[in-house]
This record gives sequence, C-alpha cells and structure tokens, in this order.
Amino acid sequence: MGRTDYLDRLNDKQKEAAMHTEGPLLILAGAGSGKTSTMTCRIAYLIREMGVSPYNILAVTFTNKAAGEMRERVADLIGEGVNMWILTFHSACLRILRYHAEVLGYGRDFAVYDPTDQKSVIKGICKDLNIDTKKFNPNYFLSQISKCKEARISPKQYCNEFGYDFKEEMVQSVYEKYEQTLQKNNAMDFDDLLLKTVELFEKDEAVLLKYQNRFQYVMVDEYQDTNMIQYTFVKMLADARDERGNVRNNICVVGDDDQCIYQWRGADIRNILEFEKDFPGAEVVKLEQNYRSSANILAAAHSVIEHNRDRKQKKLWTDAEDGSKIIYQRLDNERDEAYFVAGEINRLSGGRYNDFAVLYRTNAQSRTFEEALSRREIPYRVLGGLRYYDRKEIKDIMCYMRLVQNKADNLALVRIINEPKRGIGGKSIEKLTAQAAGQGKSMFQLLMDPEVLSQFGNKQSMALKEFAELIERYSAEKENMKISDLYDALLVNSGYLKALEDQKTIEAESRIENLMEFKSVIYDYEKDEPDLTLAEFMERIALLADVDNHDTDENAVVLMTLHSAKGLEFPYVFMPGMEDGLFPGWRAFDRPDGLEEERRLCYVGITRAKERLWMTSAETRTIYGKMDYTRESQFLHELDKNLIEGDGIYEKKEKSVAGAFKDGAAESAPYKPFDQLKYAKQQTKQRAAAMEKAKSESFKVGDIVRHPKFGEGKVVECTDKTIRVEFADEARKLALGFAPIEKV
Ligand code: ATP
Ligand code: MG
Repeated sequence: MGRTDYLDRLNDKQKEAAMHTEGPLLILAGAGSGKTSTMTCRIAYLIREMGVSPYNILAVTFTNKAAGEMRERVADLIGEGVNMWILTFHSACLRILRYHAEVLGYGRDFAVYDPTDQKSVIKGICKDLNIDTKKFNPNYFLSQISKCKEARISPKQYCNEFGYDFKEEMVQSVYEKYEQTLQKNNAMDFDDLLLKTVELFEKDEAVLLKYQNRFQYVMVDEYQDTNMIQYTFVKMLADARDERGNVRNNICVVGDDDQCIYQWRGADIRNILEFEKDFPGAEVVKLEQNYRSSANILAAAHSVIEHNRDRKQKKLWTDAEDGSKIIYQRLDNERDEAYFVAGEINRLSGGRYNDFAVLYRTNAQSRTFEEALSRREIPYRVLGGLRYYDRKEIKDIMCYMRLVQNKADNLALVRIINEPKRGIGGKSIEKLTAQAAGQGKSMFQLLMDPEVLSQFGNKQSMALKEFAELIERYSAEKENMKISDLYDALLVNSGYLKALEDQKTIEAESRIENLMEFKSVIYDYEKDEPDLTLAEFMERIALLADVDNHDTDENAVVLMTLHSAKGLEFPYVFMPGMEDGLFPGWRAFDRPDGLEEERRLCYVGITRAKERLWMTSAETRTIYGKMDYTRESQFLHELDKNLIEGDGIYEKKEKSVAGAFKDGAAESAPYKPFDQLKYAKQQTKQRAAAMEKAKSESFKVGDIVRHPKFGEGKVVECTDKTIRVEFADEARKLALGFAPIEKV
C-alpha cells in the first residue's frame, strides 16, 4: 500500500467515485467539478491500492493533448515508467488492429491513409468511372463516405439510406470501389480505425475475449461527445463475463450532458443520458462542488444553461468567494470591441499574458483581436488554428492579388497556378520555372506564349491559358476597379470559391467564412481611404501579416474558438461577439436542437473562467464584409442581470429590431437573425457576374454608362479595345470587356 494523500485531496463524492472500482460507474457533473481529476485519481487508486496491473486499464479521451495531460498526471501519482493505455480512441484502435488485421483480411503492416491519400484514391476511381471531378468534387465523396462509416452504412445500404437518384447511385459506386481499393492497397482511413475494430470484435470472438480480459477497467472522459461507433467499441469491451458468467460491465465514464457540443459532428448525447439503461446497476456519482470558478461566474453559467429544456437537472455549488461580477460592454463596432479587450488585458496583466484567453464563436472573429493585440504589442497565440493571415485560403487569394498587381511575381504565381486544381503538377511547374530562368522571362510571360503552352496536354494548356487571361484582364483594369470588386471577381472567376463550395465539408465551409471575412478588411480600408490603390493596399496588408507578434512561447494571450476550449481553464476569459446571429449562430435556428447546443457551448465558455469573465458585443458589426446593426445575444438576456456589471443589457439596441417585435404579425414569428454569410456569398457572385456581363456589352459615343468606382459618365470615344468615358471629375480610358461598366 502506498500513501493515500492524493485521495485525501478529493472531496467525499470524488473519493467515492475514485474508490468505486467494480461495476458501471457514471460520473455526471457540471464543469470544473473535478471529473477529469477524479478519473486520474481512480486510475492511481486502482494501481496503488487495489493492486490492479496498469496492463488491465484502458482510458480513452478525444484529443492527444488531453490524453497526454492525463498520462502525465497519472505518472505523477504512481511514479514513472508506467506504460499504460491512456490514449485517444483512434490510437487505441490502431494498436489493436496492428495485431489482428489479418482476421479482417488486411496485412498487419497496413497503411493508414490520411485525407490527401484518400483524395488521390477517389480521383483515380472517378477517372475509371468517367466521373467529372470538376462537377463532383472528390471531397464530396469523402465526406459522404465518412458519414456512412460513422453510422455503419455499407456501400450496399447506401441508396437504401439516401435514395436511388442518379447522384446517390454514383456515390454508391464510388464508395464501393473506394472500399475495394483500400482493401487491395492494404490500407485503412481514420474512420476505418474505429469501424474495423468494432468489426474485428464482432467477427472474432476470441479476439474480443482477449481484450475483454485484458481491459478489466475501461474509462472514458468527455463521454457526452462520443458517437455511435465509439459507444459500440467501449460497450463491447465492457461486456466481459466474470467467472460466474455475469456481465462485468466495469466501465467508468465521465462527462457532462451540458457540455455536449459536437452533435453536429455525430456525437450522440443519448450515450450519456441513457447510460443507466445501457449498463444496468450503474452507480451514478454526481459531483456538486465546483473548484474552478468564482461564485458569480458559476451562477452566471447556471442562469444560462437552465434555459435548456432537454437536460438532467443538476446544480453546482462552490465555497469560493463571489468574486467580480461579469463585466459586460457593448461597443460601437467590432474594432472598438477588440481595442476594449486589448485595453483590459494591458491594464490588468502586469505582464502575465498567459492568464488571459479570448474565446470566440468563429475563427473569422480572430482577425480584429490579432490586430488590436499587435498594436498594443501584447503577445498572443492562436490555438488550434492559424493566424488569420497565415491561413491557406487567405494566402492564396492574396497571391492572386499580388500577381494582378505585379505579373512578375513568380512566387505568387507558383502558389496559385494549381489553386484551384488545374491539373498542373509539380513537374510542370519545375519545367516552367526552369524555362523562365533560362529565357530571363517571368513565368507569367511564358504562360502568355502559345508555343510554351503547346508543351502541355490539351486540358492543361487550356486551363493555363484561362488562368493567364484572368490575371492579364484584371491587371489591365486594376486602376479602374474598386479593390473589393476586384476581390470578388478574382474569387469567382478563378474558380477558387466554387472549388471550396463543392467540397461540402466543415473545413471548406470555414475557409469560405474566412474568405468572406476578408471583405471586411477591404471595406475597412476603402472606407478610410477611398483612393487607395491596389499596390498601397497590398503593402498595408503585407505589413500587417508580417507583424511578428505571434509568440509561441508560453507567456501569451490565447485566442481560440469556444469549441477548442473544452476541458481547459483560465483565470481571465473574454467572450466577444455576444450577438444573435453570431452567438447563437444563425445556423442554430435551422436545427431543432441547434439552439440548445449553442447554449451548451455558452455554458462551456463561461465555465472556463476562474476569476473574471468579460462579455462584449458590438452595436454594428462588419462581418463577411457586411455591416449590420446587431441585437444582443439572447444568452445575455438569459444571464441573471444581478451578476452583470457594466452596460447592463443595453436597451438602445432594440431600435434596430424593435419594429419587428412591436409589429403584431412579426411577434408570433420566431426571430431569425440575418444570415450575413449567405448575403456575402450572394453579393460576391452577383458582382462577378455583372463584371462578366460587361464583357459582352458594346458601346457607342454618347452612351451614358455607370462604373462602380467613378459613377456615371458619358462615352466620348470608342476603339475596338477601349472606350473613353467622361466622368464627373475626369475622363478615363477603360479596357473594353474588362472594365465593370454598364449602360444606364
Ligand atoms: P470540465 O468539465 O471543464 O472538463 P472537470 O470536471 O474535468 O472540468 P477538472 O479539470 O478535473 O474538472 O478540475 C477543475 C479544477 O478544479 C482543476 O483546477 C482542479 O485542480 C480543481 N479541483 C478538482 N477537484 C478538487 C478538489 N477536491 N480540491 C481542490 N481543487 C480541486
Ligand atoms: Mg475535464
């Protein structure tokens, strides 16, 4: 027996849970009540006091970071050198499959395909099946296949599930071939790791028995976010029999139904809500004391989450001091919001920046904070994501603009020549680079040369020609265009936006959000300096993007989404953007449980804070390039007003939407926030289309035309390629077919 002082640090309930070692156990408790800590102590208790071999324990969680932290904490409690399975679901399954893949017809040295590998497989299949990958993006097939694997829908069942239309039948055949190809290549994808492990257990009883015997103690953290396959996996392991043939069910799960925030990705909240039904005789331990937050913060969290109807009643208490109230500020706009946050951090930090976290709803919000923090020279790091200007899609579109600005920019050209995919591989790019160097020309010049293009296959040379014409066209017109128009035109006419839309994945959607948010940057500049040229704009952005304030060492403010903050804690937390439509996001109103899931996310956010919490909103917000009046988040209204200090809930704001409420008809209709993202996308397409249309218009002297930048003017001269227009202040020569002019 070792020293049990680590147990003495637990409260009675926690101790009860840590020492409950046989039979199913559910630790269902709110945030910060020590669930993860209790689980860690339980592992130590099993090993140190109960003499259980670490070999017999399996603990799984969701992220490598969480698993790593848990391993460390256990090592602290029991001494070093413990080689125990404290792993993510994926890595646990991978280890099992390495030993038994043969049962499923794979070799033990099977490969694990990452998304890039998966995509090449799909492309090959599309080629064989004569599917045009321009019309049907490989990522679309992949996301459908992934959905199927999570729900255990086989290729054969596909059409039964999704219908027998042309498209579904096509996906089915791709899915079928995909499965065959992976088998043939002796490879599995990430979804397979879980799925195949479950299949292995079903197929070979001896193998299942082996793991049931080995893992006599199964533990799962963040159980509320498990999906169907993960559930099946742990359920099968726990289904072991003891000597008398009784089901052992030695499973301990830890979680909080109020923190289930991944339903949109297949998590099934029923797993935790029905635990007692699934595992009869389950002991349920509810931890009721919160050790993380001040009393006011905790009360604030409750006052919000209480509005969810579909939840198990539970309430935390704390003997912590009341602490400060929640500080709420409504600012004029999103820039002021970010400056307010940076100002508060500057005022309070005393140089300890890592005590602060800014938790936002969408990645697109990070930009204004990055700028404000940089200006104040406050170090920050963006967790679980890239800095705004480091994001791939932002860099890509900037390269389009750079190339339009300066056609000799070979670096920019190389980056985007195959973005979106134009079938230009690394070899072709090398060839072009070498030729350009040899002839002392820019790569762009080569692309304008039909002889150079003739070295490429038909399809490639067409694509390259189109690409070069696009750059040439906007380069000729750049002086006459508003930067925002140019931006929209490039996004659409390069095919970049469409390629993302076709992917229909969460990642692609978030890239589109970022691209739309870039319009806010441009509008900001256009508003302040209407005469800003493209060259000047690019310079400003280059400087911003370069600001070397992206501190990677520990002493930095952390910026991240609310989703990625799950399980973490910080002394000081900011929750910006408390506005309907942003948080809760407008998408929440499309799904029946959407609003409740957003509210859980709000609860997760509030409960990250130990000492102080700020919430902010902006009276007007320019997001995705569209400025709009906002309404304060309904979550703010739900929050107990006695706990708030600052603006209180601002009443003035009702002015922008008050009409909608007084109006009898509107009163009964549920409020649906304005979908700014959708608007931004539509606007981008409309403008690009208008510019395309202008290409085919013909003009004659005397026509009155309208130009988005110069207003109305009169045509005074026409040649085949240009027209001269007299605008109010000056006359300008415009390239025919490229300038965005329309007849009035
Ligand atoms: P979450 O729901 O956010 O994942 P959790 O329930 O897993 O939270 P922990 O992260 O385990 O909670 O603990 C929250 C904080 O409370 C930690 O700082 C932990 O050290 C502290 N804590 C937990 N139990 C006790 C205790 N009995 N006495 C003092 N502090 C405790
Ligand atoms: Mg935890």
